Amino acid sequence: MQRIIEFDKTHLWHPYTSMINPLPVYHVERCEGVRIYLSDGRSLIDGMSSWWSAIHGYSHPRLVSAAKRQVESLSHIMFGGLTHTPAVELGQRLLKLLPSGLDRIFYCDSGSVAVEVAVKMAIQYQHARGMDKKCKLATVRSGYHGDTWHAMSVCDPVTGMHSIFSGTLPIQYFADRPNCRFGEPWNDSDLDQMRELLAAHSDEIAAVILEPIVQGAGGMWFYNPEYVRQLQRLCRQYDVLLIFDEIATGFGRTGKMFAAEWAEITPDIMTIGKAITGGMMSFAAVIATSDVAETISRGVPSCFMHGPTFMGNPLACAVACASLDLLIENSPLDRISEIETILNESLTSLRENPAVADVRVLGAIGVVEMCEDVDMAQWQAAFVEHGVWIRPFGRLVYVMPPYVIKDHELQSLLDGMKSVIKLMTK
Ligand code: PMP
Repeated sequence: MQRIIEFDKTHLWHPYTSMINPLPVYHVERCEGVRIYLSDGRSLIDGMSSWWSAIHGYSHPRLVSAAKRQVESLSHIMFGGLTHTPAVELGQRLLKLLPSGLDRIFYCDSGSVAVEVAVKMAIQYQHARGMDKKCKLATVRSGYHGDTWHAMSVCDPVTGMHSIFSGTLPIQYFADRPNCRFGEPWNDSDLDQMRELLAAHSDEIAAVILEPIVQGAGGMWFYNPEYVRQLQRLCRQYDVLLIFDEIATGFGRTGKMFAAEWAEITPDIMTIGKAITGGMMSFAAVIATSDVAETISRGVPSCFMHGPTFMGNPLACAVACASLDLLIENSPLDRISEIETILNESLTSLRENPAVADVRVLGAIGVVEMCEDVDMAQWQAAFVEHGVWIRPFGRLVYVMPPYVIKDHELQSLLDGMKSVIKLMTK
């Protein structure tokens, strides 16, 4: 085992990690349900769903057998000039779940690529209408949309990677993040900056892109749905498209199938990914309204200029179909609401800890914001010692467990979380 860890340390780059002084990694042997089994014999309760994706837990027999069946008949085939049943069946299932009006589906490989595709769609839409000057994006601060180029350009300008790549990154327009919390009264001044920005620059802006209701990796912030409802009106007024990035929030995580439902609106373009395959493999999609798709197709060029090698990968589509079937059959929204109640009951007491700045819960997401940044390696080790898998970043210690987690497992996860917070802040 030591040799494996040594090779990893010397040769394998991990997310956001130094190659000189990498953060420690733990060797996983297998995962099942909500348990991560380490090769040193320890087992951990998963609080992360592998970054929002493993909503049905790990090695779910239905997903495994869908993958096995598909791999035996057709693992991959190019999507140019060919189609297959898993792609069509996935599309049919998605149309049943998505906000109405979104019905033109573009499959792609990962969340970041989906964001690139969505941006490209918005720009090509404006181009097709003869509005070539409308090629920039507007967004809100504290967002996170991925690590590729345009995705990076709309991540938070301070915590994102803007300063390193400022020479080459496209410059976009930023308004402050929505300030009104989810569940608290709406204050119309929240939208003032966005109003001013669109009034001044809408002739250059193709689309506003943001994560509806829950900002994820940029700050785990939950905001008032009225913001996006009003924003949609503004976008229409200024002839700007609205893109919702639901890569993290989609498939029930916030307590609705898609976060857009909190505001009861349909954006012009939506990106989905992560949980679409139940966390079995990378896959994503961009869904547009028929207006967006048909406007692009009436333009010059008349086709949408994107087509990755693994577009519509049958294996991923078949697993995604099985994952969506599980979602529909198990009516997870009831379970997510129970998870929300337990998260609220359990985490509330942390508000009394002076080292804790805020506690917030929405759907199956529980966030504890500390007053100061945490030492990730130290906290990670303490969580593992306490039998839970929680990966904090910055000042944020949070859980978003698989929906299949049982009450007693969730309780153990939260007990572990609270014990470590107590230990680290005493
Ligand atoms: N958008 C959002 C809202 C995300 O949370 C993420 C990933 N954390 C992405 C885009 C990028 O997805 P991926 O990591 O699959 O490229």
